[in-house]
Amino acid sequence: MVPILSIQDVTVSFDGFKALKNLTFSMEPGELRVIIGPNGAGKTTFLDVITGKVKPTTGTATFKGKNLARYSEHEIAKLGVGRKFQTPRVYLNLTPRQNLELSCNARKNLWNSLFSKVPQAERRTVSGLLETIGLVAKADIPAQFLSHGEKQWLEIGMLVAQSPDLLLVDEPVAGLTDEETTKTGQLLLSLAESHSIIVIEHDMEFVRQIARTVTVLHEGTVLCEGTMAQVQNDPKVIEVYLGEAPTLSAEQLNIIRIVASMAWADANFEPEEQALILDRLSLQFSQDKDLQHELKIELKNYLATNIPLEQSVQKLTTEDDRKMALKLGYEVLRVNGVTEQESVVYQRFIELLDLPVETVRAIEQDVEQLFSK
Ligand code: ADP
Ligand code: MG
Repeated sequence: MVPILSIQDVTVSFDGFKALKNLTFSMEPGELRVIIGPNGAGKTTFLDVITGKVKPTTGTATFKGKNLARYSEHEIAKLGVGRKFQTPRVYLNLTPRQNLELSCNARKNLWNSLFSKVPQAERRTVSGLLETIGLVAKADIPAQFLSHGEKQWLEIGMLVAQSPDLLLVDEPVAGLTDEETTKTGQLLLSLAESHSIIVIEHDMEFVRQIARTVTVLHEGTVLCEGTMAQVQNDPKVIEVYLGEAPTLSAEQLNIIRIVASMAWADANFEPEEQALILDRLSLQFSQDKDLQHELKIELKNYLATNIPLEQSVQKLTTEDDRKMALKLGYEVLRVNGVTEQESVVYQRFIELLDLPVETVRAIEQDVEQLFSK
């Protein structure tokens, strides 16, 4: 099969700084591909190359066999590349239905599409789209009254209305609620049945929901590629993501990892358990509301990498750190009720910590008191 997109050895230099370095990438028609990578990895620049906003300094990018260097941004859009930006660009004073009608009529002028009668066939397309994006009930209220998530879906719908062959979606769940995030995942999965899609995303939990093949970018080049499980266990990826989370110290992160592995011990990291860990720990380590939100996302990404408990515990160098790990770990287990596997891992954890028995008792009792109140 001819790849829908093929990037060969592309380098992009900005005044000598290489945002992309000898990047090679290929994608089959009909694929849903997720691209992840830490901040500054070159993800946005990668999309800019595909849309023609940025031209490769060296190397070639081809779309449906056509060398993109020969086309303007506008021509590339016409060739069938559609891009969804991070912030929604919808007409706020028009309704979702009107916004979609405009997109279906992209070639006609604004005046005509506002005031001429919309043909029957197009109406069906618009109502089909409204259903796909889950906005039937809100189809006829001005878009300014939609939630941030609903606006994102509307914009995805507007993009789909122009029937692009390749859909580029940059961080679709940034700033969305958990529920909206899940719905966005479902929407992308349903669109993937009939479109080739590239999704750039930072939120690893969301990536796990939708990912088939994941490409990890780092410092402008492909670090690794594979299924979510392969990528998550790749030592190079773990290293890159461990270097992240600037709001926390390495020691704090390590404690969080240990606490998470307690709750994970039964290989069943319940959403409630995860939510609790994220809430509890972001509170523990940060008082600022915005920071706590940042921290939760960092933690989610961090928790998506697997490291053995032995290794993490070894890194707890001070007794205070070991005590804090024990306290938080016990607390998280205690809140959810301890399963058999979790209790085995907890015992193992206590052994590894190697704290005096009295200290362990005292800490457990402290936590018990929190619960008896
Ligand atoms: P990501 O989207 O993965 O966070 P970007 O593609 O936005 O990464 O940026 C990759 C690197 O290239 C960053 O270090 C960024 O500062 C740099 N960069 C991006 N665009 C420009 C530009 N127009 N001029 C100079 N440097 C840029
Ligand atoms: Mg970016």
